[in-house]
Amino acid sequence: MTELSLPSKVIICEVAPRDGFQAESEWIPTDQKVQIIRNLAATGIQSMEITSFVHPKAIPQLKDAEEVVKRSQDLTGMKFRALVPNLKGAERAMDSGITKLKLMLSATDSHSLSNANSTVKEAQDKLEPIIEAAHKKNVTVGGSISVAFGCPYEGAVPVSRLVDILERYKAMGITEVSLADTTGMANPRQVYDLLGELKVRFPTITFSMHLHNTRGMALANAISALQQGIIHFDSSIAGLGGCPYAPGASGNIATEDLVHSFSEMGIKTNINLDSIIEVAKGVKKTLGHDGGSYMLQAGPNSALHLKPKEQVKMQDNG
Ligand code: ZN
Repeated sequence: MTELSLPSKVIICEVAPRDGFQAESEWIPTDQKVQIIRNLAATGIQSMEITSFVHPKAIPQLKDAEEVVKRSQDLTGMKFRALVPNLKGAERAMDSGITKLKLMLSATDSHSLSNANSTVKEAQDKLEPIIEAAHKKNVTVGGSISVAFGCPYEGAVPVSRLVDILERYKAMGITEVSLADTTGMANPRQVYDLLGELKVRFPTITFSMHLHNTRGMALANAISALQQGIIHFDSSIAGLGGCPYAPGASGNIATEDLVHSFSEMGIKTNINLDSIIEVAKGVKKTLGHDGGSYMLQAGPNSALHLKPKEQVKMQDNG
């Protein structure tokens, strides 16, 4: 019998301060945002997408991006990155001290037109000046592809389309690309086969997975990716998140669920499971809801129940 071969450790990037908060219609005071970021940092999380430097009118919830970054800068153990939709956003991010930018791009024209008001080609053309500006300031840039595994408007996304986008990213000097299942349309077989193909075609690119749990497949998809040797995963505390441009989309894979699964499998995350569950509980309390979290519903495997006999004894004792 052969044993399943999996990576021994993974790197989880917490995205709730961007992907989660942007989906909240009610204003979250900056103090609360910063407190959640600090609580997350205390669990051992080492990587975080802290905000998006999007136009304040487009997503008012993130209009305090500069202040959030400024007030989190003493968290030196954390690698912060910010999502930037355009050059103006990139300039704002870099001016506020961000040293890693994440670019936005959709896999399909329909999603791109609704999200960025441009076709994919036009949107990718606009990335070049951002990359140039970042290089001048020694700022790292990572790429992303939204709706990479399925588009809510167009359905299946041909592999050739992803290959074209990745070729262009590669030509721009991008070496990290986040593949996003923005509306939870991916399935485990698809993830496994697609990553297998992309890894062979683009051996110099590091892929990360950004999975939404819209249809309950995010965890299975994460394990599929893990089986292809992927070690970079995005997740969101308490399962917060959704794409404001994709109708019906909700819930990133919950960080506490991902940490629990990996820890049960003996894969290191550097994140303390008990602490992250506590933070998830706190976030749920602060915001008044979660975005879907098995840990918040059932607790971890380690939280054993009383045996039936002990329950009877407890009842006897009143
Ligand atoms: Zn997302």
